[in-house]
Amino acid sequence: MIDFCTGGSCNVRKETKNRIRKPVRVYASILPILFLITCRFMHQLKAPVILAIESSCDETSAAVISNGKVLNNIVASQNVHQKYGGVVPELASRAHQQNIVSVVREAMQSACAQPADLSAIAFTRGPGLMGSLLVGVSFAKGMAMALQKPLIEVNHMQAHILAHFIDEPVPPFPFLCLTVSGGHTQIVLVRDFLDMQVIGQTQDDAVGEAFDKAAKLMGLPYPGGPLIDAYAKQGNPARFKFTETTMPGLDFSFSGIKTQFMYFLRDALKKDGNFINENRIDICASLQHHLVTMLLNRLKLASRQTGIKTIAIAGGVSANSGLRASLAEEASRHEWQIFIPEFQYCTDNAAMIAMTAHFKFLQQQFCALDALPLARMPV
Ligand code: ADP
Ligand code: MG
Repeated sequence: MIDFCTGGSCNVRKETKNRIRKPVRVYASILPILFLITCRFMHQLKAPVILAIESSCDETSAAVISNGKVLNNIVASQNVHQKYGGVVPELASRAHQQNIVSVVREAMQSACAQPADLSAIAFTRGPGLMGSLLVGVSFAKGMAMALQKPLIEVNHMQAHILAHFIDEPVPPFPFLCLTVSGGHTQIVLVRDFLDMQVIGQTQDDAVGEAFDKAAKLMGLPYPGGPLIDAYAKQGNPARFKFTETTMPGLDFSFSGIKTQFMYFLRDALKKDGNFINENRIDICASLQHHLVTMLLNRLKLASRQTGIKTIAIAGGVSANSGLRASLAEEASRHEWQIFIPEFQYCTDNAAMIAMTAHFKFLQQQFCALDALPLARMPV
């Protein structure tokens, strides 16, 4: 470097220049580090925005959650199964393929979210129908790969329980949750958002399946649970009696009642061919009362055994008016604090997947791009 200074005064100027240059050089060298730290800090501060996809059975759903607040919950139900009296897996998976693009687009548009805004993409990994899960899992992975976003896998049964955290009031920990759907019947001890233990469950069919199969035997379309509920409101629950199958501990069995109900109808129809038409409301009320009693007997035992009096219900069957009413009665009898989800969050929906993904995002629980769907997935 050429130095034009020779005299004393010039030396002073040179020193001054050096005094200025040194800190500038130091700042310049730490600037990129500061920038990186700030970015990391800003990333943590930035409210997480997550797109969640649900496709475990016969509902294609997408939701966007921003900083723990669910912005929407788009659900496309599949009517194609109605005439078959149950979900046809192949048809369900095809319907998911037809619906998924428009459902995700609607969720993103109604949340005014751009792909770049997303902090992560979440999906239901299981449990569920393999073909149905595959559509949501593949779609989420494709999006994550294209957008270079992290992926979050969600357990559908955990999500049903965490639906209670979408809106106020939220249950305090620990609490017991009776999760009742078309595929599951469980009593879960919930210690924290992501710390749950199944303490009782069905050893065969789910209670939702018992509702649906009984409805099918009466000639009602799928899903029969809501229809039995509607007829039951007008009927006499004490008119017909059924015997309860008791299982050891906190477990359930609902396969026996299906057979019992089938023989009950067969014998009654032999005597009176018009039996179902003339007695539909009382049959529905009696069956519903029986199923709800089976659920509540185990729930009361679980509360006694654990000493926990904070009780929640979740899953499709938690929409049942008989279950809701009986739970409220038991609550006043046993001083339970009860939590019943909004109707839109009872059956399958992506809002609950988004809520669960939010808690997993806070713990930085991401999954790899090679995650496969799981037909069975423990809570
Ligand atoms: P899955 O996750 O197994 O697909 P969902 O959580 O979507 O099940 O719940 C669907 C089940 O809930 C069906 O068996 C349906 O009959 C039942 N269901 C929905 N509403 C009611 C109701 N009001 N009464 C009884 N069962 C109901
Ligand atoms: Mg479900």
